[in-house]
Amino acid sequence: MKVLALDVGGTAIKSALILDGQIIKASECSSDGKLGGPYVIGNIMNTIDSYEDYEAIGISTAGQVDSNRGYIIYANDNIPNYTGTQLRDLIRKKYQKPVYVENDVNAAAIGEGCYGAGRGENDFLCLTYGTGIGGAIIINKKLYKGSRGVAGEMGHMITHINGLQCTCGKQGCYEQYASTAALVKKSLVYNEKLTDGLHIFHELENGNTKVKDIVDCWIAEIIWGLINIIHIFNPPCIVLGGGIMRQSYLIQSINCKIKDKIMDNFKNVRIVAAKLGNNAGVFGMSAMAEQAALRI
Ligand SMILES: [Zn+2]
Repeated sequence: MKVLALDVGGTAIKSALILDGQIIKASECSSDGKLGGPYVIGNIMNTIDSYEDYEAIGISTAGQVDSNRGYIIYANDNIPNYTGTQLRDLIRKKYQKPVYVENDVNAAAIGEGCYGAGRGENDFLCLTYGTGIGGAIIINKKLYKGSRGVAGEMGHMITHINGLQCTCGKQGCYEQYASTAALVKKSLVYNEKLTDGLHIFHELENGNTKVKDIVDCWIAEIIWGLINIIHIFNPPCIVLGGGIMRQSYLIQSINCKIKDKIMDNFKNVRIVAAKLGNNAGVFGMSAMAEQAALRI
């Protein structure tokens, strides 16, 4: 089945035409997220217009998504006026094809499960580290979504009582300490040139011990959150995504330091880096569209 898959974020729209797990054609453009939902919709339609010859459209998007009804339950200020958008109906009406809409972290988890680091696992958890921390729960090869479709907000586990203020309105959330943004914030206090993960890990590899201390404190924060999750789910596998997880020092340190902090019966957990990178979302939407077609 040939699926046109889109991955809509606050800054970019990635798209790909996928057949049997192979990308035939791909492109990327700005989403103009800051300009608001209507601009993003316009860019989604421009993207779709640049493709032809597909049987279904799958859209993974930032924000909380009701995938049964295909609308955006909530989106933060990265895309103002996106909340409430009836994305599936808008696109289906215009293009007259089956359309599937899913939250971006959920889509990436399905992609990793079908084609990437979670392949072969019936159950696994997926966490992505970036501006915040997203989470997805796969049970028996399916997403567990909870009663309102928004389960897996692992970034908002509270790991510090009376801690830092979070965008969700609470204090002390995991993502305020363990996201890539949290690492960058700490690093910038030390050196204003350390504006992203690549610069930070470059310094670390060059033997900067102060940066290594900052990174190791941040890894400790990542680990405390993972310990909680491991003790709740007893998962066989956790896939860690987000650009920063390509740093091999990170995955090695997490695996090395976490084992003596978890209970014996939980130590079998495999903690691995995501494999599909930026393409996880589009692969996930292609798999979801195919699975939906099989059910009809
Ligand atoms: Zn929060």
